[in-house]
Amino acid sequence: MNEPLKLKKAALQDLIDLLRREEFKVLGPVVREGSVAFHEVREVSDLPIGMRDAQEAGRYRLTPGVDGEIFGVVNGAGSLKPFFFAPHEILLEVRREHRGFKVRDATPAAPRLALIGVRACDLAALAIQDRIFLHDKFRDAHYEARRKDVFFVAVNCTRSAPTCFCVSMKTGPEAASGFDLAMTEMEDGFVVRTGSAAGERVVSKLQLPTAASEDVAKARARIDECASGMQRQMDTSDLPHLLYDEVDSPRWNDVAARCLSCTNCTMVCPTCFCHSVMDVQELDGNMSRRVRQWDSCFSLEHAHIHGINFRPRIHDRYRQWLTHKLASWIDQFGTSGCVGCGRCITWCPVGIDLTEEVAAIRAQRGKH
Ligand code: SF4
Ligand code: SF4
Repeated sequence: MNEPLKLKKAALQDLIDLLRREEFKVLGPVVREGSVAFHEVREVSDLPIGMRDAQEAGRYRLTPGVDGEIFGVVNGAGSLKPFFFAPHEILLEVRREHRGFKVRDATPAAPRLALIGVRACDLAALAIQDRIFLHDKFRDAHYEARRKDVFFVAVNCTRSAPTCFCVSMKTGPEAASGFDLAMTEMEDGFVVRTGSAAGERVVSKLQLPTAASEDVAKARARIDECASGMQRQMDTSDLPHLLYDEVDSPRWNDVAARCLSCTNCTMVCPTCFCHSVMDVQELDGNMSRRVRQWDSCFSLEHAHIHGINFRPRIHDRYRQWLTHKLASWIDQFGTSGCVGCGRCITWCPVGIDLTEEVAAIRAQRGKH
């Protein structure tokens, strides 16, 4: 890895300005409706300075944090997912013309994005989505158009939310790959590492000095402390077999009695990719649009095929979600479908926690 550099807090604006001059649309965590999500950032003051997040199962609040701390809020409901896999988009348009029809490919002209303040778990989630949309038999042209030429400024976590369990999933709290720059926040600035040629180019333009060895050691200690202090864990040992073996666990009934099948967990999850595709006709019969929009394995219609619904009970749908996420995803794509970001725990209205569900299934293994 390259030599660590130092970016003073006052110079963060220089980084934003430089990226904007290079025609990136700069996005970062911005407070909206009591949470943070990625929105356009023009000034450092757009970021949630001096704020932190209090998260628990079914609960999220922004609270006053530490004066001057810029990236004190760990995460919010919004991940990177909507920027690459759009919640709703037109795939193609078919227009009637004379005696035939004309097909227009609606591949988007995507803006150049620079995302700052991206967490390690979200970069890991993006790598999983890349595997699905770019590195499978078919490449998704819409995802590809949005995904190319993006600049990532990661922030290594020096505090975790009580809902985080990235250490168990081996995705954080330090960004391992997929970034151009990775920063660790200190009181007076950031220890910065580069992860790509584009990142090297940016730091050379900013003429950043080498970080002092005490700063580098302090940054390392903060990340390590965050990892060792993580409050939630998930025992992933033998996980696919556990869930395949426990297809008839009584715990599926227990969780189904609490689950509202509201789909929140899948909407906030940075890796879930279920979607539906429909053809929408104009009333005059001259135009039809093929539309893709996010769907969820928790919605009843998602399992409806001709004449039958093969997951009619919430029991079936929760079991499908958890088993896919933590077991069959590994068979399908070679990694877990969960990066331990904790969003599904926080944003579940009844506080269902997948780490608790897995622990309960494990505790009851073979006893029924
Ligand atoms: S687990 Fe929670 S968030 Fe997910 S569908 Fe059930 S009630 Fe909704
Ligand atoms: S399943 Fe939950 S904890 Fe895992 S990646 Fe999705 S939202 Fe995050």
